[in-house]
Amino acid sequence: QNILSMNSVEVLYDNVMLAIKGVSVQVPKGEMIALLGSNGAGKSTTLKAISGLLKAERGRISRGEITFQGTDITEALAQKRVEMGICHVIEGRRVFEHLTPDENLTAAAPRGMSRSTLNAEKDKIYAYFPRLAERKNSQAGYLSGGEQQMLAIGRALVTQPKLLMLDEPSLGLAPFLVEEIFGILQKINNDEGLSVLLVEQNALAALEIVSQGYLIENGRVVMHGTAEALKSNS
Ligand code: ADP
Ligand code: ADP
Repeated sequence: QNILSMNSVEVLYDNVMLAIKGVSVQVPKGEMIALLGSNGAGKSTTLKAISGLLKAERGRISRGEITFQGTDITEALAQKRVEMGICHVIEGRRVFEHLTPDENLTAAAPRGMSRSTLNAEKDKIYAYFPRLAERKNSQAGYLSGGEQQMLAIGRALVTQPKLLMLDEPSLGLAPFLVEEIFGILQKINNDEGLSVLLVEQNALAALEIVSQGYLIENGRVVMHGTAEALKSNS
C-alpha cells in the first residue's frame, strides 16, 4: 500500500504564482521514488507541500489533497507532520557548522528520546556512514561537501522517519561520492524498509537506486514509470 498519496495538488505562492498545477505522486511503503526534472520544474515545491514547509515561503496548497498512512495531512502543521514521521532534508545540507557531527546528531534528536535510544541510533548512522564516524568529533564546518551531506542525512535518520524526503543530495558532489551516498541510501532502504522520496536533477544516478520515477516539467507530471522504463526513455 502507499505510505504517501498526493492527489492533483496545486500550490500557489503569494496567491498568484501557480508553482505546481495538479501533481499526483504515490510512494508505496518501503520503496524509493524519484522526482526528476530541470530547475524550476516544481520538485522542491512538491516536497514542501508534503512536509508543510510552504507557509514560511508564503505558499499554500490551493487544490488537491495529501494523505500519509491514510490520514489527510493537507492542512496539518509542519510540526505535526514531523511527529507523524515525515522528514524533509532541504536542499543545501544544513548542519550546525560550529558543532561536531556527533553534537549535530544529538541536537537533531526528537525531544524526549532516551539517551540509550539516541546512542543506538547514532551507532546505526555511523555504521552506515563510516566517513562520518571517522570525523564525528571534528567541527562540522570543516567537513567536505560530501561529509556534510551525509551528516544532513544522519540528522534526518536520528528522528526515525517513516518517509525520508531528500532534495538534491547529489548537488555539487563528485560522482564517486554521489555513488557512495546513493549506495548507502539503497542499503538503508533494503535493511530497514525506509520509504524515500528523492528529488534529483541527476536522473541517471537516481534511476539506479529508485523503483519508479516521476518526470516533472513546468509544474506538471509529464511522465511516470518504472526506473527501467524511464531509463530506456532518456
Ligand atoms: P525545482 O525544485 O524543480 O527547481 P521549485 O519547486 O523550486 O522547482 O520552483 C517551481 C516554481 O515555483 C519556479 O517557477 C519557482 O521560481 C517558483 N517558486 C519557488 N519558490 C517560490 C517562492 N517562495 N515564491 C514564489 N515563487 C517560487
Ligand atoms: P571537498 O572537495 O570534498 O570539499 P576538501 O578538499 O574541502 O574536500 O577536504 C578534504 C578533506 O579535508 C575532507 O575530509 C575535509 O573534511 C577535510 N578538511 C578540509 N578543510 C579542513 C580544515 N580546515 N580542517 C580540518 N579538516 C579539513
